[in-house]
Amino acid sequence: MTWLSACLLALTAGSATAGTYSQTKYPIVLVHGIFGFDKIGPVEYFYGIPSALRADGAKVYLVQVSAANSHEVRGEQLLTQVKQILAASGAAKVNLIGHSQGSPTSRYVASVRPDLVASVTSVGGVNKGSAVADLMLGVVPPGSLSNTVLVSIANGFGAFMHLVSGGAGPAQDSLAATKSLSTAGSLKFNAAYPEGVPTTACGEGAYTARGVAYYSWSGAKPYTNFFDIVDPALALTSLAFSGARNDGLVSSCSTHLGRVIRDNYRMNHADEINQTIGLVHLFETNPVTLYRQQANRLKNAGL
Ligand code: CA
Repeated sequence: MTWLSACLLALTAGSATAGTYSQTKYPIVLVHGIFGFDKIGPVEYFYGIPSALRADGAKVYLVQVSAANSHEVRGEQLLTQVKQILAASGAAKVNLIGHSQGSPTSRYVASVRPDLVASVTSVGGVNKGSAVADLMLGVVPPGSLSNTVLVSIANGFGAFMHLVSGGAGPAQDSLAATKSLSTAGSLKFNAAYPEGVPTTACGEGAYTARGVAYYSWSGAKPYTNFFDIVDPALALTSLAFSGARNDGLVSSCSTHLGRVIRDNYRMNHADEINQTIGLVHLFETNPVTLYRQQANRLKNAGL
């Protein structure tokens, strides 16, 4: 064997290995959360993630549902797009990965059409509501927070939404979205669409329900990078959780769905989708790696 042919063989072997790590049986559909579409658009929401998955052999689709609306309205929009993806790809099912409100949106589709869904993965998913949404609706636990703190949280939330929406006005149906994302709204939604949701306060949910596999992970560090402009806002909104572990917008326990891979990465709600443009904690596993690992997990599960 010549030196050149040995090199070519090594290159081929290397690319074959790297090219199939994320090669799931069913296409991966990334489902966005509530914010960001005026500025960053659906393609850039999961920053650098689709390209990384595709480089590893996954078929990846991005969808666009209402930036702000109820889980059910967004879920119906997602279902329509899932059917289109199935028709276009020839696949029998999809793997849904949803961030933030993208999780309950995906759960809706898996609940009403489990025959079309192989798995649902929740990333920082608002599965049991958010104390920040509760506060925005004026639901405040009695005596828990001072007015000064409430004002700080409201200011932080306003600043965060302003930053991620590029200063646009209230998107679509913000009130419907906030109600869905509240604790009360989530309880109601979970009663109708319970698959994968833990029945205990902070445990795991069923790993499989009606033939669909459920997984979740999340961060639990609101402030992670000095250079990221959204971090000060998330540090303020994190005050809504009165000390409970959270990613700035969602408590760790609320993110649990099915098999909990981990709920305390050093990531905030934006880091979970590798935002803002890759500014994340320097000494934590890269968020993109977590998506690749999940694709590999799905692949190994035959999904
Ligand atoms: Ca960040």
